[in-house]
Amino acid sequence: MSEPSPIPPAPRLRDVRSQTLEELQAEFQNWQEPAYRASQVVEWLYVHRATDWTAMSNLPLRLRERLRHNFALDPITLVAHQGSPDHTQKFLWRLADGALIESVLIPANPALCGEESDRRTLCVSTQVGCAYGCAFCASGLQGWKRNLGVEEIVDQVLAAERWHAANPAPADAASPRERLVDNLVIMGMGEPLANYDPLLKALRILNAPWGGRIGARRITVSTSGLCPQIRRLAEEPLQLQLAVSLHGATDPVRSRLMPVNRKYPIRELMAACEFYVARKGRLLTFEYLLIAGVNDDLAHVPPLADLARRVHAKVNLIPYNHVPTLPWQRPDDNTQQAFLEALQARGINATLRREKGHDIDAACGQLRLRAEAGNA
Ligand code: SAH
Ligand code: SF4
Repeated sequence: MSEPSPIPPAPRLRDVRSQTLEELQAEFQNWQEPAYRASQVVEWLYVHRATDWTAMSNLPLRLRERLRHNFALDPITLVAHQGSPDHTQKFLWRLADGALIESVLIPANPALCGEESDRRTLCVSTQVGCAYGCAFCASGLQGWKRNLGVEEIVDQVLAAERWHAANPAPADAASPRERLVDNLVIMGMGEPLANYDPLLKALRILNAPWGGRIGARRITVSTSGLCPQIRRLAEEPLQLQLAVSLHGATDPVRSRLMPVNRKYPIRELMAACEFYVARKGRLLTFEYLLIAGVNDDLAHVPPLADLARRVHAKVNLIPYNHVPTLPWQRPDDNTQQAFLEALQARGINATLRREKGHDIDAACGQLRLRAEAGNA
């Protein structure tokens, strides 16, 4: 007798936080439910940050059951938290399939680059691991595992808000903040533009008046320089901020640090940036890590200044955060300052990010790496 064929696993349900209000309304119309019911659902998700259908007490029971059978609602769970509410905090999350990702909460506005501010910026991940293998980066060390889904990107913000509501900072206890996160930087683990469609949908949800209500101008997407996607982003109606990780002002230096430069060398990257600036009428930022003996000599300043001037880019200098097992080191404070002043002397709008969270492994990918090594 032949073996009975195995029962195929049930298809995974779409998560409700991967849906726009319009998509939910269309589904509700099929179900012959009034449109205002969809608004009630998103209010539960984005205002009350519900993690469970049973909480949605103003929905009829039969509708809650129908939702449960048609949509997943799987919150990410906190595995480790480092830092204090008044300083940089790092969250290590476990996803439904057990994969680990990180978000970092920085008590500053990204435009202020580390200056104190009452603004809070959340740095979110877009992939588990990263395929781009930059030589200095912890996220790429174990390769790429998978893209994050829309709901896994969205829930990093909601989960940080839930954590904050349960653990208010002493300063917030007197006058509670309506919400924790004012700005988003898409600079956590992974290459955001390699997960383009889910990222853009997540950002539309986080920006929507019915969703996360975070202004598009308060959202910065960082890329290692994927040229076709930079051009695609230039055509998006959403007015996001773009940061390009440059790290080297010549092809030999950049290719040594970033393998992606062999595919999209600086000439092509600059053409994509010029297209972006012309199409969007918006400025962009170059991120430039300072790594001792690699790209921190003053001889690197003139070519960097030339690139920045071509696209009117602001240059954000980031002192390298040492990653155990990797050979790279950050330059001393005097070298960092001299590099900054030499750029400014050439008329470039440049800032030096005073590092936040150096002591808590805040550079991308580092906490996950320690967790997987059993040391978190
Ligand atoms: N993949 C995208 C976004 C994630 S990396 C990108 O490369 O832009 C976000 C930023 O963190 C990048 O500018 C990256 O170069 C920087 N980074 C990575 N490792 C770092 C480290 N050890 N110290 C400081 N910055 C680091
Ligand atoms: Fe990936 Fe960005 Fe890290 Fe490079 S710096 S390996 S692109 S996450």
